[in-house]
Amino acid sequence: MSQLKIYNTLSRQKEVFEPILPNHVGLYVCGPTVYSDVHLGNCRTFISFDIIYRYLKYLGYKVRYVRNITDAGHLEGDRDEGDDKFSKKARLEQLEPMEIVQRYTVGFHKVMELFNTLPPTIEPTATGHITEQIRMAQQIIDNGYAYVVDGTVYFDVEKYNKEKPYGILTNRKLEDLLEGTRELGGQDEKRGRLDFALWIKAGPEHLMQWPSPWGMGFPGWHIECSAMSEKYLGKQFDIHGGGMDLAATHHTNEIAQSQACYKTSPVRYWMHTNMLTVNGVRMSKSAGNGFLPEELFSGSHPLLEKAYAPMNVRFFMLQTHYRSTLDFSNEALQAAEKGMKRLWDAYEALKDFEWEAGENSIDAELNDKVNKLVAEFDEHMSDDFNTARVLASMFELVPVINSMKDKTIAISAIAKETLELLQAKFKDYLEDVFGLQAVNEADNTKLQGVMQLLIDIRKEAKSKKDFATSDKIRNQLAALGINLKDEKGGEMSWSVE
Ligand code: AMP
Ligand code: ZN
Repeated sequence: MSQLKIYNTLSRQKEVFEPILPNHVGLYVCGPTVYSDVHLGNCRTFISFDIIYRYLKYLGYKVRYVRNITDAGHLEGDRDEGDDKFSKKARLEQLEPMEIVQRYTVGFHKVMELFNTLPPTIEPTATGHITEQIRMAQQIIDNGYAYVVDGTVYFDVEKYNKEKPYGILTNRKLEDLLEGTRELGGQDEKRGRLDFALWIKAGPEHLMQWPSPWGMGFPGWHIECSAMSEKYLGKQFDIHGGGMDLAATHHTNEIAQSQACYKTSPVRYWMHTNMLTVNGVRMSKSAGNGFLPEELFSGSHPLLEKAYAPMNVRFFMLQTHYRSTLDFSNEALQAAEKGMKRLWDAYEALKDFEWEAGENSIDAELNDKVNKLVAEFDEHMSDDFNTARVLASMFELVPVINSMKDKTIAISAIAKETLELLQAKFKDYLEDVFGLQAVNEADNTKLQGVMQLLIDIRKEAKSKKDFATSDKIRNQLAALGINLKDEKGGEMSWSVE
């Protein structure tokens, strides 16, 4: 088996993967901030790491996979002052912050399940690890790298940078980073422009706050990942992942905190996924181009020409390497649908092939070709998880499989072991490593048709002021877990709970 190579953001090159403990991997991935629904961009990152997790397991590693839930301490605009995202939403919706957290955690899990991603082995929450975060902040103060101003604890970036390069992860000098940040205002309590909060003082209006040696407050966003990764994976662990947008600040601060606290670089391999874009613009909540997965599955977003099944979306993501940007479009998704169908049909046929010694002898050239292409699955995947190239090798095998299906080539034109390997590797890769499942296209199209019919009947009923019928349709669908929403201009959209 080829050696696994991983592109390490820290060294900016591919490195041979050597785990700290033989046969074991500690993997930490920054999870969602559960104050709203995850969009498809977030899903790309989580699906990419799901495939990485699955492949590590496939290679025989015992993996401890920690993906946190950020349920406190993430402030608006990733800043150090103001309200946290949960309290803001809670006020808006007149709910408890923990009701917000629960609603979106449940929603996130549901989406992850629809995409057939495996749950992490530990899913710790920030609110469940307040004492660990306080302890870490205290240790950083004791070591001389943080200071307290009126109940808030700041990390002293310039002091730290005198000993360790702060911008090491993204290869940037402190002077350049300083140039890119705003001047300290007269009111600012920070000593340096790049200093960030480990702990934030809470005013009486703050809904979520805890006692600490510095008074009532709540943890900063960065300290939670440092505290939780240390707790479950140790002071140094193998792989830390997240979206590329997290490298410059969140992960840079994680490294600084752990170094300042434990005098060790916390992570051996830093992995970053590239962004999902729409017309070249990064998908994000603030840009307003964030499709929700359920809008995609029901086709109810105005930019969507039709509904797309979760497995086709997953396949769409697999066709691009995780370090390349991936642009969302209807054409690309429809091409992915066709591609997946072609591949899956071949796989279904392949499963039923039985080798029998035929009259023809083995075609050595074809046999070699099949063996070579099958061997490439592991080679490509071990080359920094290149799912796109694995799929390309699989597609090269499709015409061979189809010819065997049509009997234009005899199954016995390849050796029995070659056929068995081909069957086993297709299963391993499509189902176990890529986590794909058959798509029931017919069901999907039928449901679309039925929903459109019900929407038409309801529109008609409404126009005749027949509210009994209109309400009946909406309520009975709701009882089935399908939500109909009245949009502007009399339009209706629907989503499955
Ligand atoms: P958040 O809930 O905002 O903390 O984000 C959760 C994860 O999704 C992080 O790892 C982000 O880097 C990642 N992410 C956010 N936007 C995108 C995007 N457009 N494409 C890929 N990953 C993203
Ligand atoms: Zn994190």
